[in-house]
Amino acid sequence: MKVFIATKNQKKLRELKRILIPMGFEVLCEADLDFPFKDAIEDGQTFEENAIIKAKSGLLQTGLISVADDSGICVDYLDGRPGVFSARYSGEHGNDEMNNDKLLSELSGVPMEKRTAYYVAAIACVFPDGKQFTVRGECHGHIAFERQQGNGGFGYDPLFISGKGPFSQLTAEEKDAISHRGKALMKFKEELKKYI
Ligand code: IMP
Repeated sequence: MKVFIATKNQKKLRELKRILIPMGFEVLCEADLDFPFKDAIEDGQTFEENAIIKAKSGLLQTGLISVADDSGICVDYLDGRPGVFSARYSGEHGNDEMNNDKLLSELSGVPMEKRTAYYVAAIACVFPDGKQFTVRGECHGHIAFERQQGNGGFGYDPLFISGKGPFSQLTAEEKDAISHRGKALMKFKEELKKYI
């Protein structure tokens, strides 16, 4: 059975392939298509909605079972922002450095006990017969007062302190074991078994 993964992110692609290929799926991505893939407009209010929007766009364009994910960071002091806007927090062309600078400046003067935050990852799977499901993983922690040492991870990881320490100082395996995406991927594998 063929599955299409609707993402341009090579890291996400690798993680999903690690799960889907041993389950017997033939995995296809944009690079395998012989037509240009159109990106979906991510205008959902929640991570789950955006993951479904991306997966449905994959199904519409390929006709195959399609999988997509959406993720970001929610800061309690900022009422959950940047949330679904995490990638574009500092503007349409926001990048990791600018996003982290903006987060530090919005939390300037906020004491550690009020700097709680959590990462969210939602993974959606849609089927040609109309069935669909989403799973969600969360990882709770704090936003540091400044960038932490270590160059592990990406995105907001230099500022995120988990129960196991700063994300920038964890190995990929240590992060996978507790991360929002690691948890969502485990749930995804279990849920998918019910549909095949
Ligand atoms: P998207 O899911 O590719 O749209 O990414 C959403 C945003 O959340 C990006 O700015 C990422 O940098 C950030 N993000 C998602 N997961 C992580 C993570 O595990 N570490 C750091 N940043 C993350």
